[in-house]
Amino acid sequence: MTRIFDDPANFADDALDGFAAVHENYVARVPGGVVRATATPDGQVAVVIGGGSGHYPAFAGLVGAGLAAGAVCGNVFTSPSASQAHSVALTAHRGGGVLFSYGNYAGDVLHFDEAERRLRAEGVDTRTVICTDDVASAPPEDRDKRRGIAGDLVVFKIAGAAAERGLPLDDVERLATAANDRTRTLGVAFDGCTLPGESSTLFSVPEGMMSIGLGIHGEAGISDEPIPSAHDLAQMLVERLFAEEPAGGGNRIAVILNGLGSVKYEELFVLYRHVAKLVADRDVVIVEPECGELVTSLDMAGLSLTFFWLDDELEPLWCDAADTPAYRKGNLSPRERITVEAHQDTQAEHTEATQESQQAALTARRLIAVALGTVEGEAEYLGRLDSVAGDGDHGTGMVRGLRAADASAASCEAALLSVAELLVAAGHAWSDKAGGTSGALWGAALVAAGESFSGQNDFSPGTVVDAVEAGATAIQSLGKARPGDKTMVDSIVPFVESLREQVAAQVPVVDAVVAAAAVATQAAADTSSLRPQLGRARPLAEKSLGHPDPGATSFGLIVNGIAQSLINGAQTSVVGR
Ligand code: ADP
Ligand code: MG
Repeated sequence: MTRIFDDPANFADDALDGFAAVHENYVARVPGGVVRATATPDGQVAVVIGGGSGHYPAFAGLVGAGLAAGAVCGNVFTSPSASQAHSVALTAHRGGGVLFSYGNYAGDVLHFDEAERRLRAEGVDTRTVICTDDVASAPPEDRDKRRGIAGDLVVFKIAGAAAERGLPLDDVERLATAANDRTRTLGVAFDGCTLPGESSTLFSVPEGMMSIGLGIHGEAGISDEPIPSAHDLAQMLVERLFAEEPAGGGNRIAVILNGLGSVKYEELFVLYRHVAKLVADRDVVIVEPECGELVTSLDMAGLSLTFFWLDDELEPLWCDAADTPAYRKGNLSPRERITVEAHQDTQAEHTEATQESQQAALTARRLIAVALGTVEGEAEYLGRLDSVAGDGDHGTGMVRGLRAADASAASCEAALLSVAELLVAAGHAWSDKAGGTSGALWGAALVAAGESFSGQNDFSPGTVVDAVEAGATAIQSLGKARPGDKTMVDSIVPFVESLREQVAAQVPVVDAVVAAAAVATQAAADTSSLRPQLGRARPLAEKSLGHPDPGATSFGLIVNGIAQSLINGAQTSVVGR
């Protein structure tokens, strides 16, 4: 239960402001997160880490000498946006290039990849090492699909130490990749966590039971078992991790016994005692272990055990000194404080729009407002659907994104901009404010639809369908989902096909949208029988069976809301004005 907050929607930002105030000798608050407030040598690689908030000390608490140069901080359990990552990276950059490192979640990958693309286009050499330590989230042959949990710290530590030694970007990337390849984590949960402002946990574990294979975003574990003794729990975790030993593992490991939020340190120490003994029984040496809260999940009752198989190159980096608000070891020479100048984005120039394009912009703005109204009314339902096998944020994420898109569209329309500029700006605003997978995808869809209108003065039904299709194509090329993977694509593709067929057959626009919306709604309902192949829900595919996909459902609701508004507004001609 989170008891202390003002507006729950601002919880992550409010907490980050307070954190930066406490640790002003270490970090400076900048748009999108925090960067070091201490001097860093020119040419040092900037290791920029990040993800959703709610995992303290990950990620902001790990910014400082010997570790991260900056942390990109999204909303609670929601990936930050591409612009946040881009902005934090540019502020932290010291001329040596940027290494992004974060846990493997679809939303984070989409946004950080976009930030990497932008940075490279601007001449900043940028690489990425994604953390995939969670053994419960995919079989060994699909290691690249695994989530990142407490083993994130290993990868960040190795990358940060390599950067601190002044190694070039190629080496920092290679060593961080090697660290990830040699790190495995398994966790258990005794109870779920509660988002700020909510009264119930995202998932619950029956009394006396534990859920094996937890996620760190309130995703339930993969299987439930009675809680064993500390000894037997340690044995289960240690055996499963040794069964995952990487090729060439060797007999020296670093160990992280991590509390998720409400397991007491003393309980962790009781467990650690057994872990140490069981590891020693295998003639394996533990090097500089960590035991405490390192990557949390709000107030989740749970813990995880991480093994990092060391080698001659990685061990010294693991042992190197680091000095950050939440992670300190060894002795580093004191660092001078600096004044941080945050990177500022330049404003785009606008061209004058034609009357027709301004008219189309008005229509686009109204449709975005309709979408917002629809999603606001269904946010709780969408959140519940997303908590079945995801992290419960789909409703709040869509509302946040659409509110930003709506505000941006309103100001573009008032400034008499073209429909192309309005949609591009609204798409960027959506992605920036919503974060998450759906924020990246919807944002990209609006940008692509806007770009397809660029320089256009023909807003006949055929070109509108082209724009809708451009949006759908952007979602597919960015998210790489195919029909049948149980994502929003499953309702978007049939919607676009139906719309195109009817418009080609000269069906009046309103009738065509109404019919295509009905197709999308049915297609969304039909996702109930599918197993998720992508996104957060994939590790919990069994739980998802029998429930429709949240993203497909919200798409169906939005196009239905639009269809209804077109019917109601047919006389006042919402589309044609
Ligand atoms: P997150 O998964 O980051 O928490 P949301 O909860 O807002 O983001 O959105 C979840 C929805 O995103 C899913 O229900 C699914 O429809 C959609 N989704 C997830 N991954 C993909 C993908 N690769 N391509 C298309 N849609 C996806
Ligand atoms: Mg979600």
